[in-house]
Amino acid sequence: MKALVYNGPGSPSWETIPDPAIEDSSDVIVRVDTTTICGTDLHILKGDVPSVKPGTVLGHEAIGTVVDKGSGVTSLDLGDRVIVSCITSCGSCQYCRKPMPSHCLAFDSTGWVLGNLINGTQAEYVRLPYGQNSTYKLPEGMDDAQALFLSDIFPTGFEMGVRYGRVTPGDVVAVVGVGPVGLAAVATAGLYGASKVIAVGRTRPRIDKALEMGATHGVSTNDPDWFDTVMGLTDGLGVDVAIEAVGVPHTLDQAFRLVRPGGHVANAGVHGTSFSLPINDLWIQNITFTTGLVDTVTIPILIDLIKAGRIHPEAMGTHHFAMDNMLEAYEIFSEASKHNCLKTVITH
Ligand SMILES: [Zn+2]
Ligand SMILES: [Zn+2]
Repeated sequence: MKALVYNGPGSPSWETIPDPAIEDSSDVIVRVDTTTICGTDLHILKGDVPSVKPGTVLGHEAIGTVVDKGSGVTSLDLGDRVIVSCITSCGSCQYCRKPMPSHCLAFDSTGWVLGNLINGTQAEYVRLPYGQNSTYKLPEGMDDAQALFLSDIFPTGFEMGVRYGRVTPGDVVAVVGVGPVGLAAVATAGLYGASKVIAVGRTRPRIDKALEMGATHGVSTNDPDWFDTVMGLTDGLGVDVAIEAVGVPHTLDQAFRLVRPGGHVANAGVHGTSFSLPINDLWIQNITFTTGLVDTVTIPILIDLIKAGRIHPEAMGTHHFAMDNMLEAYEIFSEASKHNCLKTVITH
């Protein structure tokens, strides 16, 4: 089969490798029908993620069709179409039963296994350990493009941003950073009754996309008065919940500056450098700070919300490619702002 292989820092390659086969009774093999590229894959290609060894197929998001299964798989049949979770869950360890499969003990206390510790989804086929616990059936009539971003991005914005940030009715929520994860937080903050959802971004196309996906206000940090503008929307008090969705110290600092006493700062960004917490200012502010790796346990909720027409994740799929053009998709996605790209949709 063809697959996108990480051969060490630098450029990825699209090459022929052996098809995956069943190795364990819990395994499921799916044919990848639709996949996408995550910002995390770009981090891997820069050499920022040492757990990924050269020779690994990248990718942890997909919609696929079950083509083979181990003897222990009872709830999936050949031909079933599934949403592949970016989190692999054994279903029985202490963390999976919490349920916090992001730290499943079956693989070194991380649920992020695909495209990290084992071959991932940017390939024609992928082997999914604990396949029936780590996939969700795609409902009849739902398009791949509607459900694709439930693998990772949408649950990440929802769980790490909105749910960890404890958004409650009437809250003013600021989402700092309106890339895919920020947009998912924007699109789901209203579900918990936020009175205002303020998208704080840089470039206009992304802010406009946030307004399309559920933000009530859009503020560009290119505007020198942006901070006062946000404060003006909160009677000068600051926001109840500030969600960081970029993953750099500067934007996390902005989130802490925007939050009011008693508020929550929820980190949803993937950070590569340390951050100095201004505890000398914060200790007296009754702030809660949360962070974590997505569990994807909200995928069933998000499926129902798509069915009900309450969320439209497909709005993020801006660039479409055939799987054979995987490298071109990487080129475009690695310069996403230049190409006005949010997420790629890559089909078999
Ligand atoms: Zn990801
Ligand atoms: Zn587990």
